[in-house]
Amino acid sequence: MDSVKNDVTTYPAYLAGKWQTSESRETIAITSPWQHDVIGKVQAVTQSEVDQSIKASKKAQHAWASLSLGDRGQYLNQWANELEKDKEAIATSVMTEVGKNYDDAEKEVTRTIDLIRYTVQEALHMHGESVRGDGFPGGSKEKLGIIERVPLGVVLAISPFNYPVNLAASKIAPALMAGNGVIFKPATQGSISGIKMIQALDRTGLPTGLLSLITGHGSVIGDYLTEHPGINMISFTGSTQTGKHLSQKSIMIPLVLELGGKDPAIVCHDANLDLTAKNIVSGAFSYSGQRCTAVKRVLVDDSIADQLVAKLKTAVEKLSVGSPVDDNAIVPLIDNKSADFVQGLIDDALSKGAALITGNRRDKNLLAPTLLDNVTEDMDVAWIEPFGPVLPIIRVHSVAEAIEIANKSNFGLQASVFTQDIDKALEIAGAVEVGTVQVNGRPERGPDNFPFLGVKASGMGTQGVHNSILSMSREKLTVMNLK
Ligand code: NAP
Repeated sequence: MDSVKNDVTTYPAYLAGKWQTSESRETIAITSPWQHDVIGKVQAVTQSEVDQSIKASKKAQHAWASLSLGDRGQYLNQWANELEKDKEAIATSVMTEVGKNYDDAEKEVTRTIDLIRYTVQEALHMHGESVRGDGFPGGSKEKLGIIERVPLGVVLAISPFNYPVNLAASKIAPALMAGNGVIFKPATQGSISGIKMIQALDRTGLPTGLLSLITGHGSVIGDYLTEHPGINMISFTGSTQTGKHLSQKSIMIPLVLELGGKDPAIVCHDANLDLTAKNIVSGAFSYSGQRCTAVKRVLVDDSIADQLVAKLKTAVEKLSVGSPVDDNAIVPLIDNKSADFVQGLIDDALSKGAALITGNRRDKNLLAPTLLDNVTEDMDVAWIEPFGPVLPIIRVHSVAEAIEIANKSNFGLQASVFTQDIDKALEIAGAVEVGTVQVNGRPERGPDNFPFLGVKASGMGTQGVHNSILSMSREKLTVMNLK
Protein backbone atom coordinates (compact mmCIF):
# COMPACT_ATOMS: atom_id res chain seq x y z
CA MET A 1 0.00 0.00 0.00
CA ASP A 2 1.26 3.47 -0.89
CA SER A 3 1.71 5.88 1.98
CA VAL A 4 -0.71 8.80 1.86
CA LYS A 5 -1.83 11.76 3.92
CA ASN A 6 -4.97 11.09 5.96
CA ASP A 7 -7.10 13.97 4.74
CA VAL A 8 -7.53 12.96 1.08
CA THR A 9 -10.67 11.39 -0.35
CA THR A 10 -10.72 7.64 -0.69
CA TYR A 11 -12.81 6.75 -3.73
CA PRO A 12 -14.80 3.52 -3.90
CA ALA A 13 -14.79 1.25 -6.93
CA TYR A 14 -18.05 0.53 -8.77
CA LEU A 15 -18.39 -3.24 -8.63
CA ALA A 16 -21.40 -5.25 -9.73
CA GLY A 17 -23.66 -2.23 -9.35
CA LYS A 18 -22.38 -1.03 -5.95
CA TRP A 19 -19.94 1.66 -4.94
CA GLN A 20 -17.68 -0.12 -2.48
CA THR A 21 -14.27 -0.35 -0.91
CA SER A 22 -12.28 -3.35 -2.01
CA GLU A 23 -12.00 -6.48 0.10
CA SER A 24 -8.23 -6.10 -0.45
CA ARG A 25 -8.26 -3.19 2.04
CA GLU A 26 -5.56 -1.73 -0.18
CA THR A 27 -5.67 1.61 -1.90
CA ILE A 28 -3.48 3.32 -4.47
CA ALA A 29 -2.45 6.91 -3.88
CA ILE A 30 -2.89 9.27 -6.82
CA THR A 31 -0.39 12.15 -6.87
CA SER A 32 -1.07 15.26 -8.93
CA PRO A 33 1.70 15.75 -11.52
CA TRP A 34 1.83 19.48 -10.81
CA GLN A 35 0.64 19.89 -7.22
CA HIS A 36 3.09 17.10 -6.29
CA ASP A 37 0.72 16.03 -3.56
CA VAL A 38 -1.60 13.08 -3.04
CA ILE A 39 -5.06 14.09 -4.26
CA GLY A 40 -6.98 10.90 -3.59
CA LYS A 41 -6.85 7.16 -3.14
CA VAL A 42 -8.50 4.52 -5.31
CA GLN A 43 -9.25 0.89 -4.59
CA ALA A 44 -6.89 -1.95 -5.51
CA VAL A 45 -9.62 -4.32 -6.73
CA THR A 46 -9.07 -8.08 -6.26
CA GLN A 47 -9.39 -10.97 -8.68
CA SER A 48 -12.47 -12.30 -6.95
CA GLU A 49 -14.12 -8.86 -7.26
CA VAL A 50 -13.27 -8.96 -10.98
CA ASP A 51 -15.00 -12.36 -11.16
CA GLN A 52 -18.11 -11.01 -9.43
CA SER A 53 -18.19 -7.93 -11.65
CA ILE A 54 -17.93 -9.90 -14.88
CA LYS A 55 -20.57 -12.33 -13.68
CA ALA A 56 -22.95 -9.47 -12.83
CA SER A 57 -22.28 -7.80 -16.18
CA LYS A 58 -23.03 -11.03 -18.06
CA LYS A 59 -26.26 -11.43 -16.16
CA ALA A 60 -27.41 -7.86 -16.77
CA GLN A 61 -26.31 -7.84 -20.40
CA HIS A 62 -29.02 -10.22 -21.64
CA ALA A 63 -31.84 -7.98 -20.44
CA TRP A 64 -29.96 -4.88 -21.66
CA ALA A 65 -29.56 -6.35 -25.14
CA SER A 66 -33.28 -7.06 -25.30
CA LEU A 67 -34.13 -3.38 -24.72
CA SER A 68 -34.89 -1.35 -27.81
CA LEU A 69 -32.13 0.85 -29.17
CA GLY A 70 -34.26 3.84 -28.27
CA ASP A 71 -34.47 2.73 -24.64
CA ARG A 72 -30.73 2.13 -24.43
CA GLY A 73 -30.19 5.50 -26.05
CA GLN A 74 -32.25 7.20 -23.34
CA TYR A 75 -29.81 6.05 -20.66
CA LEU A 76 -26.89 7.33 -22.70
CA ASN A 77 -28.51 10.67 -23.47
CA GLN A 78 -29.23 11.02 -19.78
CA TRP A 79 -25.56 10.25 -19.10
CA ALA A 80 -24.60 13.10 -21.43
CA ASN A 81 -27.01 15.39 -19.53
CA GLU A 82 -25.50 14.37 -16.19
CA LEU A 83 -21.99 15.00 -17.51
CA GLU A 84 -23.12 18.44 -18.61
CA LYS A 85 -24.14 19.18 -15.00
CA ASP A 86 -20.77 17.92 -13.69
CA LYS A 87 -18.69 19.46 -16.45
CA GLU A 88 -16.76 21.86 -14.25
CA ALA A 89 -16.06 19.29 -11.53
CA ILE A 90 -14.89 16.67 -14.01
CA ALA A 91 -12.73 19.14 -15.94
CA THR A 92 -11.17 20.24 -12.65
CA SER A 93 -10.48 16.61 -11.81
CA VAL A 94 -8.82 16.03 -15.21
CA MET A 95 -6.70 19.14 -14.66
CA THR A 96 -5.65 18.10 -11.17
CA GLU A 97 -5.06 14.44 -11.92
CA VAL A 98 -3.33 14.44 -15.31
CA GLY A 99 -2.17 18.06 -15.48
CA LYS A 100 -4.10 19.14 -18.58
CA ASN A 101 -4.83 22.87 -18.60
CA TYR A 102 -8.39 23.74 -17.59
CA ASP A 103 -9.46 24.94 -21.01
CA ASP A 104 -8.36 21.70 -22.69
CA ALA A 105 -9.81 19.62 -19.85
CA GLU A 106 -13.19 21.30 -20.29
CA LYS A 107 -13.01 20.78 -24.06
CA GLU A 108 -12.37 17.10 -23.40
CA VAL A 109 -15.55 16.82 -21.33
CA THR A 110 -17.59 18.76 -23.91
CA ARG A 111 -16.25 16.56 -26.70
CA THR A 112 -17.22 13.51 -24.66
CA ILE A 113 -20.79 14.75 -24.19
CA ASP A 114 -21.05 15.32 -27.95
CA LEU A 115 -19.55 11.91 -28.63
CA ILE A 116 -22.09 10.12 -26.42
CA ARG A 117 -25.03 11.91 -28.05
CA TYR A 118 -23.64 11.20 -31.53
CA THR A 119 -23.11 7.53 -30.63
CA VAL A 120 -26.78 7.22 -29.74
CA GLN A 121 -27.81 8.78 -33.06
CA GLU A 122 -25.38 6.64 -35.02
CA ALA A 123 -26.60 3.42 -33.41
CA LEU A 124 -30.22 4.39 -34.04
CA HIS A 125 -29.42 4.75 -37.74
CA MET A 126 -27.43 1.55 -38.22
CA HIS A 127 -29.64 -1.09 -39.78
CA GLY A 128 -29.28 -4.71 -40.70
CA GLU A 129 -29.79 -5.99 -44.23
CA SER A 130 -31.30 -8.88 -46.09
CA VAL A 131 -30.00 -10.82 -49.06
CA ARG A 132 -31.52 -13.36 -51.44
CA GLY A 133 -29.55 -16.47 -52.35
CA ASP A 134 -30.11 -16.18 -56.08
CA GLY A 135 -27.21 -13.78 -56.61
CA PHE A 136 -24.78 -16.68 -56.15
CA PRO A 137 -24.22 -19.14 -59.02
CA GLY A 138 -26.62 -22.02 -58.43
CA GLY A 139 -28.18 -20.12 -55.51
CA SER A 140 -31.86 -20.04 -54.80
CA LYS A 141 -34.33 -17.17 -54.65
CA GLU A 142 -36.17 -19.11 -51.99
CA LYS A 143 -33.32 -18.52 -49.54
CA LEU A 144 -33.65 -15.19 -47.77
CA GLY A 145 -30.81 -14.24 -45.43
CA ILE A 146 -31.61 -11.75 -42.65
CA ILE A 147 -28.45 -10.13 -41.35
CA GLU A 148 -28.61 -8.39 -37.99
CA ARG A 149 -25.95 -7.09 -35.66
CA VAL A 150 -25.88 -8.58 -32.19
CA PRO A 151 -23.72 -7.70 -29.17
CA LEU A 152 -20.56 -9.60 -28.30
CA GLY A 153 -21.25 -9.91 -24.55
CA VAL A 154 -18.95 -8.17 -22.07
CA VAL A 155 -16.46 -5.62 -23.39
CA LEU A 156 -13.28 -4.82 -21.49
CA ALA A 157 -12.47 -1.12 -22.00
CA ILE A 158 -8.93 -0.08 -21.02
CA SER A 159 -8.01 3.60 -21.35
CA PRO A 160 -4.77 5.61 -21.05
CA PHE A 161 -3.98 8.54 -18.78
CA ASN A 162 -3.90 11.35 -21.35
CA TYR A 163 -7.62 11.57 -22.20
CA PRO A 164 -9.10 9.90 -19.11
CA VAL A 165 -12.68 10.92 -19.92
CA ASN A 166 -12.89 10.98 -23.71
CA LEU A 167 -10.95 7.81 -24.42
CA ALA A 168 -12.98 5.94 -21.83
CA ALA A 169 -16.38 7.15 -23.06
CA SER A 170 -15.44 6.47 -26.67
CA LYS A 171 -15.32 2.79 -25.71
CA ILE A 172 -18.12 2.66 -23.12
CA ALA A 173 -20.80 4.47 -25.16
CA PRO A 174 -20.56 2.31 -28.33
CA ALA A 175 -20.22 -0.85 -26.23
CA LEU A 176 -23.46 -0.05 -24.40
CA MET A 177 -25.34 1.08 -27.51
CA ALA A 178 -24.34 -2.18 -29.22
CA GLY A 179 -25.99 -4.03 -26.32
CA ASN A 180 -22.91 -5.14 -24.36
CA GLY A 181 -21.99 -5.11 -20.70
CA VAL A 182 -18.78 -3.25 -19.84
CA ILE A 183 -15.82 -3.74 -17.55
CA PHE A 184 -13.99 -0.43 -17.47
CA LYS A 185 -10.35 -0.35 -16.35
CA PRO A 186 -9.11 3.27 -16.37
CA ALA A 187 -5.43 4.22 -16.29
CA THR A 188 -4.47 4.40 -12.63
CA GLN A 189 -3.43 8.04 -13.14
CA GLY A 190 -6.81 9.10 -14.47
CA SER A 191 -9.01 6.85 -12.38
CA ILE A 192 -10.42 9.64 -10.21
CA SER A 193 -11.69 11.38 -13.37
CA GLY A 194 -13.00 8.01 -14.58
CA ILE A 195 -14.84 7.49 -11.29
CA LYS A 196 -16.50 10.92 -11.55
CA MET A 197 -17.60 10.12 -15.08
CA ILE A 198 -19.12 6.81 -13.96
CA GLN A 199 -20.86 8.47 -11.01
CA ALA A 200 -22.72 10.51 -13.63
CA LEU A 201 -23.60 7.33 -15.54
CA ASP A 202 -24.78 5.64 -12.36
CA ARG A 203 -27.25 8.48 -11.74
CA THR A 204 -29.09 7.48 -14.93
CA GLY A 205 -30.25 4.29 -13.19
CA LEU A 206 -28.26 2.04 -15.53
CA PRO A 207 -29.25 -1.60 -14.84
CA THR A 208 -27.44 -3.01 -11.82
CA GLY A 209 -24.16 -4.72 -12.63
CA LEU A 210 -24.17 -3.93 -16.36
CA LEU A 211 -21.01 -1.86 -15.99
CA SER A 212 -18.25 -2.15 -13.40
CA LEU A 213 -15.26 0.09 -12.86
CA ILE A 214 -12.15 -1.81 -11.85
CA THR A 215 -9.36 0.32 -10.40
CA GLY A 216 -5.90 -1.12 -9.79
CA HIS A 217 -2.49 -1.16 -11.40
CA GLY A 218 -2.51 -2.70 -14.87
CA SER A 219 0.66 -4.57 -13.96
CA VAL A 220 -1.24 -6.29 -11.12
CA ILE A 221 -4.81 -6.79 -12.38
CA GLY A 222 -4.37 -6.31 -16.16
CA ASP A 223 -3.45 -9.84 -17.16
CA TYR A 224 -6.22 -11.29 -15.03
CA LEU A 225 -8.77 -9.09 -16.80
CA THR A 226 -7.35 -9.72 -20.26
CA GLU A 227 -7.24 -13.50 -19.88
CA HIS A 228 -10.61 -13.74 -18.13
CA PRO A 229 -12.91 -16.19 -19.93
CA GLY A 230 -15.90 -13.91 -19.25
CA ILE A 231 -14.50 -11.13 -21.46
CA ASN A 232 -15.75 -11.21 -25.05
CA MET A 233 -13.96 -8.23 -26.59
CA ILE A 234 -11.17 -5.86 -25.60
CA SER A 235 -10.90 -2.23 -26.65
CA PHE A 236 -7.54 -0.84 -25.59
CA THR A 237 -5.83 2.52 -25.96
CA GLY A 238 -2.33 2.97 -24.60
CA SER A 239 1.31 2.33 -25.36
CA THR A 240 2.55 -0.06 -28.01
CA GLN A 241 4.40 -2.02 -25.36
CA THR A 242 1.24 -2.72 -23.34
CA GLY A 243 -0.80 -3.30 -26.51
CA LYS A 244 1.62 -5.97 -27.72
CA HIS A 245 1.53 -7.61 -24.32
CA LEU A 246 -2.28 -7.63 -24.41
CA SER A 247 -2.36 -9.20 -27.85
CA GLN A 248 -0.19 -12.06 -26.56
CA LYS A 249 -2.41 -12.62 -23.54
CA SER A 250 -5.83 -12.46 -25.19
CA ILE A 251 -6.57 -15.56 -27.17
CA MET A 252 -9.39 -15.65 -29.73
CA ILE A 253 -10.92 -12.47 -28.38
CA PRO A 254 -11.69 -9.62 -30.77
CA LEU A 255 -9.22 -6.88 -30.00
CA VAL A 256 -9.02 -3.24 -31.03
CA LEU A 257 -5.71 -1.57 -30.21
CA GLU A 258 -4.97 2.14 -30.53
CA LEU A 259 -1.30 2.57 -29.66
CA GLY A 260 1.66 4.92 -29.87
CA GLY A 261 2.83 7.01 -32.79
CA LYS A 262 5.71 8.93 -34.32
CA ASP A 263 3.68 11.16 -36.61
CA PRO A 264 5.82 13.00 -39.19
CA ALA A 265 5.06 16.44 -40.56
CA ILE A 266 6.38 16.36 -44.12
CA VAL A 267 7.10 19.91 -45.29
CA CYS A 268 7.61 20.40 -49.04
CA HIS A 269 9.53 23.29 -50.58
CA ASP A 270 6.29 25.00 -51.72
CA ALA A 271 4.52 24.86 -48.33
CA ASN A 272 2.82 27.91 -46.85
CA LEU A 273 5.32 28.29 -44.02
CA ASP A 274 3.19 30.40 -41.67
CA LEU A 275 0.36 27.88 -41.78
CA THR A 276 2.86 25.03 -41.50
CA ALA A 277 4.66 26.46 -38.47
CA LYS A 278 1.37 27.19 -36.69
CA ASN A 279 0.11 23.63 -37.19
CA ILE A 280 3.41 22.01 -36.30
CA VAL A 281 3.77 23.95 -33.06
CA SER A 282 0.23 23.28 -31.90
CA GLY A 283 0.49 19.67 -33.12
CA ALA A 284 3.77 19.00 -31.36
CA PHE A 285 3.39 20.89 -28.11
CA SER A 286 -0.30 20.88 -27.06
CA TYR A 287 -0.56 19.20 -23.66
CA SER A 288 3.25 19.11 -23.69
CA GLY A 289 3.25 16.57 -26.51
CA GLN A 290 1.40 13.95 -24.46
CA ARG A 291 -0.90 13.10 -27.34
CA CYS A 292 -0.80 9.96 -29.46
CA THR A 293 -1.20 12.10 -32.58
CA ALA A 294 1.31 14.78 -31.63
CA VAL A 295 3.71 15.82 -34.40
CA LYS A 296 6.75 13.83 -33.27
CA ARG A 297 9.19 14.64 -36.09
CA VAL A 298 9.48 17.18 -38.90
CA LEU A 299 10.82 16.06 -42.29
CA VAL A 300 11.51 19.32 -44.06
CA ASP A 301 12.91 20.07 -47.50
CA ASP A 302 16.40 21.46 -46.96
CA SER A 303 15.75 24.41 -49.31
CA ILE A 304 13.23 26.00 -46.90
CA ALA A 305 14.42 24.44 -43.64
CA ASP A 306 16.18 27.57 -42.31
CA GLN A 307 13.04 29.66 -42.83
CA LEU A 308 10.81 27.07 -41.20
CA VAL A 309 13.14 26.61 -38.22
CA ALA A 310 13.17 30.38 -37.64
CA LYS A 311 9.36 30.50 -37.64
CA LEU A 312 9.11 27.46 -35.36
CA LYS A 313 11.64 28.98 -32.94
CA THR A 314 9.65 32.22 -32.70
CA ALA A 315 6.38 30.36 -32.11
CA VAL A 316 7.82 27.88 -29.62
CA GLU A 317 9.42 30.61 -27.56
CA LYS A 318 6.00 32.26 -27.22
CA LEU A 319 4.47 29.14 -25.61
CA SER A 320 3.68 29.73 -21.97
CA VAL A 321 5.21 27.23 -19.56
CA GLY A 322 3.93 26.41 -16.08
CA SER A 323 0.99 25.16 -14.09
CA PRO A 324 -2.17 23.91 -15.86
CA VAL A 325 -4.31 26.00 -13.54
CA ASP A 326 -3.03 29.14 -15.31
CA ASP A 327 -3.90 27.67 -18.70
CA ASN A 328 -0.27 27.33 -19.74
CA ALA A 329 0.43 25.57 -23.02
CA ILE A 330 3.37 23.61 -21.65
CA VAL A 331 2.55 21.82 -18.41
CA PRO A 332 4.43 19.33 -16.23
CA LEU A 333 4.63 15.81 -17.64
CA ILE A 334 2.63 13.05 -16.01
CA ASP A 335 5.55 12.02 -13.77
CA ASN A 336 9.29 12.36 -13.22
CA LYS A 337 10.04 9.09 -14.98
CA SER A 338 8.48 10.47 -18.18
CA ALA A 339 10.52 13.67 -17.86
CA ASP A 340 13.72 11.63 -17.35
CA PHE A 341 12.87 9.67 -20.50
CA VAL A 342 12.39 12.80 -22.63
CA GLN A 343 15.55 14.35 -21.16
CA GLY A 344 17.44 11.18 -22.12
CA LEU A 345 16.30 11.54 -25.75
CA ILE A 346 17.39 15.21 -25.82
CA ASP A 347 20.79 14.39 -24.26
CA ASP A 348 21.37 11.54 -26.71
CA ALA A 349 20.59 13.78 -29.71
CA LEU A 350 22.80 16.63 -28.48
CA SER A 351 25.68 14.26 -27.78
CA LYS A 352 25.44 13.02 -31.38
CA GLY A 353 25.51 16.50 -32.93
CA ALA A 354 21.91 17.77 -33.06
CA ALA A 355 21.59 21.57 -32.86
CA LEU A 356 19.61 22.95 -29.94
CA ILE A 357 17.36 25.71 -31.32
CA THR A 358 15.50 26.42 -28.10
CA GLY A 359 14.54 24.74 -24.84
CA ASN A 360 16.33 22.01 -22.91
CA ARG A 361 15.54 23.48 -19.52
CA ARG A 362 13.92 21.48 -16.74
CA ASP A 363 12.33 21.96 -13.36
CA LYS A 364 11.36 18.54 -11.92
CA ASN A 365 8.85 17.13 -14.44
CA LEU A 366 8.29 20.47 -16.19
CA LEU A 367 10.33 20.61 -19.40
CA ALA A 368 10.63 23.69 -21.57
CA PRO A 369 9.50 23.08 -25.17
CA THR A 370 12.59 21.92 -27.02
CA LEU A 371 13.41 22.17 -30.73
CA LEU A 372 16.26 20.11 -32.16
CA ASP A 373 17.56 20.75 -35.67
CA ASN A 374 19.87 18.65 -37.85
CA VAL A 375 18.59 15.46 -36.27
CA THR A 376 19.97 12.39 -38.00
CA GLU A 377 18.90 8.78 -38.22
CA ASP A 378 21.42 7.56 -35.65
CA MET A 379 19.68 9.53 -32.89
CA ASP A 380 16.99 7.86 -30.74
CA VAL A 381 14.74 10.94 -30.94
CA ALA A 382 14.39 10.30 -34.68
CA TRP A 383 12.49 7.04 -34.00
CA ILE A 384 11.25 6.83 -30.40
CA GLU A 385 7.96 8.33 -29.19
CA PRO A 386 8.95 10.85 -26.49
CA PHE A 387 5.43 11.69 -25.20
CA GLY A 388 6.85 15.04 -24.14
CA PRO A 389 7.69 18.52 -25.46
CA VAL A 390 10.61 17.80 -27.78
CA LEU A 391 10.47 18.11 -31.55
CA PRO A 392 13.22 16.75 -33.81
CA ILE A 393 13.76 18.33 -37.23
CA ILE A 394 15.23 16.11 -39.93
CA ARG A 395 16.31 17.85 -43.15
CA VAL A 396 15.63 15.97 -46.38
CA HIS A 397 16.50 16.64 -50.02
CA SER A 398 13.50 15.21 -51.84
CA VAL A 399 9.94 14.05 -51.40
CA ALA A 400 11.17 10.49 -51.95
CA GLU A 401 13.61 10.79 -49.05
CA ALA A 402 10.87 12.19 -46.79
CA ILE A 403 8.59 9.28 -47.64
CA GLU A 404 11.40 6.79 -47.09
CA ILE A 405 12.22 8.13 -43.62
CA ALA A 406 8.52 8.46 -42.74
CA ASN A 407 8.00 4.80 -43.59
CA LYS A 408 11.14 3.53 -41.84
CA SER A 409 9.37 4.11 -38.52
CA ASN A 410 7.77 1.15 -36.75
CA PHE A 411 4.78 3.40 -36.10
CA GLY A 412 2.01 4.30 -38.53
CA LEU A 413 -0.63 6.43 -36.82
CA GLN A 414 -0.96 9.69 -38.79
CA ALA A 415 1.17 11.96 -40.99
CA SER A 416 0.83 15.58 -42.06
CA VAL A 417 1.80 16.87 -45.48
CA PHE A 418 2.34 20.58 -46.05
CA THR A 419 2.36 21.64 -49.70
CA GLN A 420 0.31 23.87 -52.01
CA ASP A 421 0.47 21.30 -54.78
CA ILE A 422 -2.57 19.04 -54.57
CA ASP A 423 -1.02 16.39 -56.82
CA LYS A 424 2.03 16.18 -54.62
CA ALA A 425 -0.16 16.01 -51.50
CA LEU A 426 -2.06 13.07 -52.95
CA GLU A 427 1.14 11.36 -54.07
CA ILE A 428 2.62 11.58 -50.58
CA ALA A 429 -0.69 10.64 -48.94
CA GLY A 430 -0.78 7.50 -51.05
CA ALA A 431 2.78 6.53 -50.20
CA VAL A 432 3.00 6.99 -46.43
CA GLU A 433 2.15 3.92 -44.34
CA VAL A 434 -0.22 5.40 -41.77
CA GLY A 435 -3.88 5.26 -40.77
CA THR A 436 -4.62 8.92 -41.60
CA VAL A 437 -2.94 11.64 -43.63
CA GLN A 438 -3.68 15.29 -42.88
CA VAL A 439 -3.09 17.67 -45.77
CA ASN A 440 -2.09 21.14 -44.55
CA GLY A 441 -3.24 20.40 -41.00
CA ARG A 442 -1.92 18.90 -37.79
CA PRO A 443 -2.44 15.23 -36.97
CA GLU A 444 -5.36 14.70 -34.62
CA ARG A 445 -7.99 12.21 -33.55
CA GLY A 446 -11.42 13.36 -34.57
CA PRO A 447 -13.90 14.67 -35.29
CA ASP A 448 -15.03 11.50 -33.56
CA ASN A 449 -17.28 10.42 -36.44
CA PHE A 450 -14.16 9.93 -38.61
CA PRO A 451 -12.54 6.49 -38.64
CA PHE A 452 -9.48 6.47 -36.41
CA LEU A 453 -6.79 3.84 -36.77
CA GLY A 454 -3.11 3.12 -36.68
CA VAL A 455 -1.13 0.62 -38.73
CA LYS A 456 2.12 -1.23 -37.93
CA ALA A 457 3.01 -0.69 -34.24
CA SER A 458 0.33 2.01 -33.93
CA GLY A 459 -2.61 -0.31 -33.70
CA MET A 460 -5.06 -2.84 -34.95
CA GLY A 461 -8.70 -2.30 -35.86
CA THR A 462 -10.55 0.97 -36.24
CA GLN A 463 -12.24 3.35 -33.82
CA GLY A 464 -14.47 6.33 -34.50
CA VAL A 465 -18.11 6.07 -33.51
CA HIS A 466 -19.44 4.00 -36.42
CA ASN A 467 -16.49 1.61 -36.47
CA SER A 468 -16.50 1.19 -32.71
CA ILE A 469 -20.13 0.07 -32.78
CA LEU A 470 -19.24 -2.39 -35.57
CA SER A 471 -16.23 -3.73 -33.67
CA MET A 472 -18.32 -4.26 -30.54
CA SER A 473 -21.02 -6.24 -32.32
CA ARG A 474 -21.09 -9.05 -34.83
CA GLU A 475 -23.26 -10.15 -37.70
CA LYS A 476 -25.87 -12.79 -37.13
CA LEU A 477 -27.46 -14.47 -40.12
CA THR A 478 -30.87 -16.11 -40.09
CA VAL A 479 -31.80 -17.92 -43.30
CA MET A 480 -35.48 -18.23 -44.20
CA ASN A 481 -35.96 -21.21 -46.51
CA LEU A 482 -39.13 -20.03 -48.14
CA LYS A 483 -40.23 -23.21 -49.81
P1 NAP B 1 0.02 2.48 -20.91
O1 NAP B 1 1.05 2.60 -19.85
O2 NAP B 1 0.21 1.45 -21.96
O3 NAP B 1 -1.36 2.24 -20.14
C1 NAP B 1 -2.59 2.16 -20.81
C2 NAP B 1 -3.57 1.36 -19.99
O4 NAP B 1 -3.15 0.00 -19.93
C3 NAP B 1 -3.69 1.82 -18.54
O5 NAP B 1 -5.03 1.70 -18.14
C4 NAP B 1 -2.82 0.82 -17.80
O6 NAP B 1 -3.13 0.69 -16.45
C5 NAP B 1 -3.19 -0.44 -18.57
N1 NAP B 1 -2.28 -1.56 -18.40
C6 NAP B 1 -0.98 -1.57 -18.05
N2 NAP B 1 -0.51 -2.85 -18.02
C7 NAP B 1 -1.53 -3.65 -18.38
C8 NAP B 1 -1.69 -5.06 -18.54
N3 NAP B 1 -0.69 -5.92 -18.34
N4 NAP B 1 -2.88 -5.53 -18.92
C9 NAP B 1 -3.92 -4.70 -19.15
N5 NAP B 1 -3.84 -3.36 -19.00
C10 NAP B 1 -2.66 -2.83 -18.63
O7 NAP B 1 -0.20 3.87 -21.67
P2 NAP B 1 -0.31 5.34 -21.05
O8 NAP B 1 1.04 5.76 -20.53
O9 NAP B 1 -1.48 5.42 -20.13
O10 NAP B 1 -0.68 6.20 -22.35
C11 NAP B 1 0.29 6.73 -23.21
C12 NAP B 1 0.41 5.90 -24.46
O11 NAP B 1 -0.86 5.73 -25.05
C13 NAP B 1 1.27 6.57 -25.54
O12 NAP B 1 2.09 5.62 -26.16
C14 NAP B 1 0.25 7.10 -26.53
O13 NAP B 1 0.74 7.28 -27.83
C15 NAP B 1 -0.81 6.05 -26.43
N6 NAP B 1 -2.09 6.59 -26.87
C16 NAP B 1 -2.60 6.15 -28.05
C17 NAP B 1 -3.79 6.67 -28.52
C18 NAP B 1 -4.37 6.20 -29.82
O14 NAP B 1 -5.58 6.33 -29.98
N7 NAP B 1 -3.59 5.66 -30.74
C19 NAP B 1 -4.47 7.64 -27.77
C20 NAP B 1 -3.92 8.06 -26.57
C21 NAP B 1 -2.74 7.52 -26.12
P3 NAP B 1 -2.22 1.42 -15.33
O15 NAP B 1 -2.39 2.88 -15.56
O16 NAP B 1 -2.80 0.94 -14.06
O17 NAP B 1 -0.80 0.97 -15.55
